[in-house]
Amino acid sequence: MTIIDTHSHIYGPEFSDDVADVIVRAKEAGVEKIFLPNINLGTIVPMMELCQAYPGCCYPMMGLHPEDIGDDWHEVLDEMESLLKDRNHPYIAVGEVGLDYYWSQERYEEQKEVFMIQAGWAKRYDLPLVIHTRNAHREMVELMRSASEEESLRGVFHCFSGSSEEARELLDFGQFMLGIGGVVTFKKSQLPDVLRDVVPINRIVVETDAPYMAPVPYRGKRNESGFVKAVVEKLADIYGMSASSVAEITTNNALNTFTRARK
Ligand SMILES: [Zn+2]
Repeated sequence: MTIIDTHSHIYGPEFSDDVADVIVRAKEAGVEKIFLPNINLGTIVPMMELCQAYPGCCYPMMGLHPEDIGDDWHEVLDEMESLLKDRNHPYIAVGEVGLDYYWSQERYEEQKEVFMIQAGWAKRYDLPLVIHTRNAHREMVELMRSASEEESLRGVFHCFSGSSEEARELLDFGQFMLGIGGVVTFKKSQLPDVLRDVVPINRIVVETDAPYMAPVPYRGKRNESGFVKAVVEKLADIYGMSASSVAEITTNNALNTFTRARK
């Protein structure tokens, strides 16, 4: 079984004592590749150190997270884009980017502006876009419709946990996958029904969002990449197929989206 954890923050301080063990356990669980979304300027160094220590396993992305937008975002974006301009840059995606209106609607318009600039990078540098959306489904669909108008974008709507109607709207972006993580294993989650009803398995990639969102039976604990196996097993249950088939299909989906991670 070969699994790809398409969204994991194991370069973070939560893992500074034992990241080597975390990666050993991931390999034991069948996780061959781990994709690392960037958050802000400060996370680039720890993310790149991990990627250099584990080539062919850990792969970096480049982007500014909506919750990390500060007054200096113009300069931050300039610096990030200068990294993508290098012909030999190591980044496999623009991410994670998006809209987060959960805590407040702070920087409501700025979040949209920052998202659209980074969606432009995805087109310009031919990279997938890894999108975080929280309490902003409607706004994101509208932004994506205008961003997708002329050129087609590809990517992932990470940590999807919405309704059937929302899933359908996102799947209309034909080159986008839904990133499914620990939420699908939670007891009261409606997500299994939504997936069964409207989401074909060939539109799913799996992820942990470590250290957050640990799946059952690890719920409430620090999440780590190896736990994504519990997500694969739950999907096998939902789609009535073997875990190894789910692993194979979602791995193909991931590599067709993150084409630079094939090697
Ligand atoms: Zn994330």
